[in-house]
Amino acid sequence: MNYDVIIIGAGAAGLMCAIEAGNRGRKVLVIEHADKPGKKILISGGGRCNFTNLNVSSENFVSSNPHFCKSALARYTPKDFISLVEKYGIKYHEKKLGQLFCNGSAKEILQMLLDECSSAGVEIILNCTVSEIIKQNNFAVKTTVGNFNCESLVIASGGISIPQMGATDFGYKIAKQFGLKITKTVPGLVPFVLNDESLSGLSGLSIDSNVSCNNTSFRENILFTHKGLSGPAILQISNYWNNGDKVIIDLLPGIDISVVLSENKPNKTVLVNVLAKFFS
Ligand SMILES: Cc1cc2nc3c(=O)[nH]c(=O)nc-3n(C[C@H](O)[C@H](O)[C@H](O)COP(=O)(O)OP(=O)(O)OC[C@H]3O[C@@H](n4cnc5c(N)ncnc54)[C@H](O)[C@@H]3O)c2cc1C
Repeated sequence: MNYDVIIIGAGAAGLMCAIEAGNRGRKVLVIEHADKPGKKILISGGGRCNFTNLNVSSENFVSSNPHFCKSALARYTPKDFISLVEKYGIKYHEKKLGQLFCNGSAKEILQMLLDECSSAGVEIILNCTVSEIIKQNNFAVKTTVGNFNCESLVIASGGISIPQMGATDFGYKIAKQFGLKITKTVPGLVPFVLNDESLSGLSGLSIDSNVSCNNTSFRENILFTHKGLSGPAILQISNYWNNGDKVIIDLLPGIDISVVLSENKPNKTVLVNVLAKFFS
């Protein structure tokens, strides 16, 4: 069977690509090996999908090619996605720092993308595994449900995190097959796990902090967990941390605690009382 465009992976990227290509009048097929599309969308934002950010810019992306983000964001802005969300009557709210979440559920965002795919004439095949890709003039895609040909092939099979959601290293294998340079993969946007359970007594507490590492800082909440530290500030700083690097956490950002303490007599009871005012 012949298509103009075949997209491998029915995640956020694959579905958006399919909508765009379909709306340009191209015959589009999306191949997904899982039994459902968009599984990661459903768990995003704690099930409410933080679908965009009002203040997003290329500066917010960690990339070895910052120019890619500039051109991509110039051509499709947060406003464009918000208009689509509003067209579908999906109710949303701003949580903090321009982050937009659904009032209801991430299911609404996934359904919106699937509806857009269907009005753009996109076909989606689930439970389909690709066994081979051959490039001659066009691409020949051999799968468990048949063989397909296409002029343009898009690999949107995502990163390797959370295999339970269908993630595979398929994209990396195909990149190798076609001789593309691959950058080393490292965990990103992840919590820190400590070697001991010294902070587990504080588990569940969240506090506004300034977290710094390698000349980058984030002012946001940190969350104490049973295993270590998480929360938005920790997840973001993890992108800048390499094994062995020092992370500095200021639990009283904007307050010079030495000035506060010098105004009080330095003994243990006073110290506890003064600090309690900030942390209660
Ligand atoms: C817990 C969590 C919360 C998150 N919250 C947010 C949030 O609130 N806001 C936000 O913007 N981002 C959030 N993210 C990040 C966001 O979910 C991802 O960046 C995004 O889903 C990536 O989309 P993708 O299409 O590139 O990849 P994926 O969503 O991983 O999609 C890839 C698809 O390809 C399929 N696939 C893989 N291999 C093959 C193969 N060989 N053949 C066929 N199909 C294949 C997979 O099954 C999958 O459906 C969150 C991520 C996590 C893990």
